[in-house]
Amino acid sequence: KLEEKRLVLVSNGEPYKHVYNDQQIEQHKLAGGLTTGLDPMMQETNGLWIAWGRGEADFEVVDQNKKVKVPNPEGYTLKRIELDQAEKEGFYYGFSNEVMWPISHTFISKANYDKDYWKYYQKVNKKYAENIKEELKEDDLVWIHDYHLALVPGLLADTEAKTSLFWHIPWPAWEAFRTIPWREEIIKGMLAADFLAFHTDLFVYNFLNCAKKIGAEVDFSEREVKYQGSQTKVESVPLGIDYQKFNQLAQDGDYLKKAKEVKDNYKTEKLVFAVDRLDYTKGIEERLEGINRFFEKYPEYKSKVTFVQRVAPSRTGIAEYQEMKERIEKKVAQINGKYQKDQWQPVKYFYGSVPQSELLPYYKAADLALITASIDGMNLVAKEYLAVQDSGVLLLSEFAGAAEYLDSAIKVNPYNVEELADSIYQGLEMSESEKKQRLEAAQSDLKEYDINWWRDYFIEKWLDSYE
Ligand code: UDP
Repeated sequence: KLEEKRLVLVSNGEPYKHVYNDQQIEQHKLAGGLTTGLDPMMQETNGLWIAWGRGEADFEVVDQNKKVKVPNPEGYTLKRIELDQAEKEGFYYGFSNEVMWPISHTFISKANYDKDYWKYYQKVNKKYAENIKEELKEDDLVWIHDYHLALVPGLLADTEAKTSLFWHIPWPAWEAFRTIPWREEIIKGMLAADFLAFHTDLFVYNFLNCAKKIGAEVDFSEREVKYQGSQTKVESVPLGIDYQKFNQLAQDGDYLKKAKEVKDNYKTEKLVFAVDRLDYTKGIEERLEGINRFFEKYPEYKSKVTFVQRVAPSRTGIAEYQEMKERIEKKVAQINGKYQKDQWQPVKYFYGSVPQSELLPYYKAADLALITASIDGMNLVAKEYLAVQDSGVLLLSEFAGAAEYLDSAIKVNPYNVEELADSIYQGLEMSESEKKQRLEAAQSDLKEYDINWWRDYFIEKWLDSYE
């Protein structure tokens, strides 16, 4: 029973950060699935959340144990981990984002196996584990999150804690994972958890296979792994959105007005929208090729369709990301230079992140959303778009985790330029009745399998694994 236990959440990102505004310190709630899904439960159950404190004023408000109550003094405890510059570079920018991220997304050539990165990854994972150990009480449930903390379960193996890990990004085939020089240590660390979950069955399968390759005993049908005395249950538990919030918003008068302003602003018959973090996994360059081909193949759409591409800065400290930004901007300029006419520009490009509330009117205004990631753990934007729509079409990459669950989207192979162009055409030409039918099916699933379902189902399966 969860009520009798304390939940200890462990993640890289924190739910609240503290920042200066003039001389005053303000608390900001951080957007994202993790906070949305888990903060209400933490408030209800008075749990403990351990995360890296990244806010500029984070350590001004903590006690000597680096703890602070959030969202108010009666709330739950947030314990902040402090990382120095070398740790931040080696652990976060280095191993997490230049090894675990590319490899999990099967971008082998983008990985950088610097042995100092590995040293810092181990060091910071240990730091997390020590911080957890300082706090551990009997019967605690320790729920660890994501690719930054793969070694933490192993480092808690000498405690009584019940541990689980949710992996928020893809898990690759062995062919990719085996290139990591420390592949065994990583999988071994994860297998010390009692329960592991991924977004999709494919990722579960890939993980089980990797476990087998390092010598674990794997039962593929029961999804159970035995390794060096530990036993782990593995499941797929797809992350959902706060459906109720998005759906309510879609009925809100002010919101609808803003969406209409967005649409009117572009003076275009059809608006096509895409928003991504700047990342090579998001398929932005391939998408632009598809848009180029679309205007080449369907010239009757010139002056009638406008593509709005928003790109949110990400990991700006990594050179690779900077170079990609330049290539994207060049491609946008090429397409605009080739097709634009009078007042009309085929691609409107914006670089910069905006609060979600500013993004949402675009979702509503868009006749079509282009979510064509080369690979993605889930992709929440796809789900958010469908939740606010009443007549839009989603064009979704087959390689996003969300595709495993959204049968009503038009699925595309983002590397197939011809198919991309044709699918854009198909989406724009779809009949109103077909759009409605597809949306209804999607929305009923999004409502049932929302963020609360994800959290509850994960915990249920985790606790079941002890029976
Ligand atoms: N988002 C936002 N502002 C932006 C860009 C994105 O608030 O400028 C939000 C978006 O609504 C979504 C999340 O960031 O909830 C992105 O999640 P997703 O799973 O699509 O991709 P990730 O960035 O986690 O790889």
